[in-house]
Amino acid sequence: MAKTAAVVSYIDLEKCLRGWSKVLSLWRLCGNAACRRARRCRGEAHVCLPKNFQLLPQGVRDWFVDLAAAQECDIPFDAAIESLDASPAGQAFHDWNAAVAASLGEAEEAPAAQTTGPAER
Ligand SMILES: [Zn+2]
Repeated sequence: MAKTAAVVSYIDLEKCLRGWSKVLSLWRLCGNAACRRARRCRGEAHVCLPKNFQLLPQGVRDWFVDLAAAQECDIPFDAAIESLDASPAGQAFHDWNAAVAASLGEAEEAPAAQTTGPAER
């Protein structure tokens, strides 16, 4: 049976949400042990993301909302990231990634969103 457009778009949406969950390190806050073990969303991303998004620090939520707004306004992704990097929201995003890395006993890595969007990986 051929996939309908609705099925394909649902799969694409789940893939996209998983990518953003990873960028935002939402697995760190997830109640699903499989997500925390895998360090990525292993549940249903459309359920995990909104639930865990609310648990992020306010500045990180602002970073995401500002980035989404920039995309909506057709501001190039790299330009939006560069602008956000210089903002309090960008600092909050950086601090969040540093805190997640520190909680794992790892050296801080550059956030993936600063080089490529989640859909490109
Ligand atoms: Zn999860």
